[in-house]
Amino acid sequence: MNNVKEFRIAVLPGDGIGVEVMAAAQEVLAAAQAKVGGFRLVNDSHDAGANLYREIGTAMTEETLRAAEAADAILLGACGLPDVRYPDGTEIAPQVDLRFHFGLYAGVRPVKALPGGPLALADPRAAGIDFVLIRESTEGLFAARGKGQVIDDREARDTMVITRPTSEKLFDFAFQLAARRRAGGSAGKVTLIDKANIFASMAFFRKVFDERAAAHPEVATERLYVDAAALDFVRRPWEFDVLVTENMFGDILSDLAAGLVGGMGFAPSGDIGDDNAVFQPAHGTAPDIAGQGKANPTAMIQSAAMMLDWLGHRHDIAACIEAAQLIDEAMVEAIAKGRVRTYDAGGSDGTAAVSKAVIELING
Ligand code: ATP
Repeated sequence: MNNVKEFRIAVLPGDGIGVEVMAAAQEVLAAAQAKVGGFRLVNDSHDAGANLYREIGTAMTEETLRAAEAADAILLGACGLPDVRYPDGTEIAPQVDLRFHFGLYAGVRPVKALPGGPLALADPRAAGIDFVLIRESTEGLFAARGKGQVIDDREARDTMVITRPTSEKLFDFAFQLAARRRAGGSAGKVTLIDKANIFASMAFFRKVFDERAAAHPEVATERLYVDAAALDFVRRPWEFDVLVTENMFGDILSDLAAGLVGGMGFAPSGDIGDDNAVFQPAHGTAPDIAGQGKANPTAMIQSAAMMLDWLGHRHDIAACIEAAQLIDEAMVEAIAKGRVRTYDAGGSDGTAAVSKAVIELING
């Protein structure tokens, strides 16, 4: 057992269904770890989110932040509750705080139609939807968070911020991902989504994109205004490969993208920086179904697999990458073979039924 690589994982289950899907993902991770061997996840769990804020007046303690800093990766459920707000009326969102604290500029949201899974579009080509939306996650319009001004109850201002260093890193990340996907058989194309025809910030964003594109001639490029992109998300989403966009546009389009492939329960994500990463499903705490065991844990389980894949590549541990693939394949098979059909896909399988089916397939 000498060659077992240990990873410390900061686990923040959060609020509402975040806690429920986290429990399911933990069981799946443990099964994959036991099956593959060669690595060990050491969980360090902490409360964070709206319930904690209600109790003690902070959404994440200093101790939790230190634990997150010390961890090899951070696994997050979902945080926030509609009735728990900061004095300025905004929601508790430690996930956004973490992105800024750690400089997690690349919000990676894979969007893939699962065989046999729910699809919003009737066109048979929708079964081939397989793209990754990269949402810049530390600046853009979200740079205004906590800094917006309301002047004399007459006028309000939030400012969009685009910087060259972050944009360069973001675009390089997108080009590298496209090159890696091309090696796996994808088109090898990066689509920039902006509003360069209207805003100076967005014209600058495009200028930096064009500069970085010139440094990656092996990857094809495409540029779309965000309004045209919204149309194409419905008209031809199967043509996308890697998309990259500003924070607020990405926030909106990633929910639209999730809707294409079954909704928020099927939308995993990873927020990745130079040295840290947070993995969490793109969905919120879904107070309407919390506590009923009905939440779909697919996105959380897939996010946990993304974490293993990221750790494996970062530390060059093949067992981690293998475990990630094992989880992904089991998840796909559970749905494709009709072993589970979740509530949000019109079925009656709850959180525990999904993790049980996935674990059986892993152990299979
Ligand atoms: P936020 O505003 O933070 O995105 P929210 O709870 O308002 O949070 P979401 O959780 O993203 O919104 O999703 C909206 C609705 O989609 C939920 O109210 C719920 O009905 C459904 N939903 C989201 N995630 C899941 C899931 N994992 N399983 C089943 N249904 C889900």
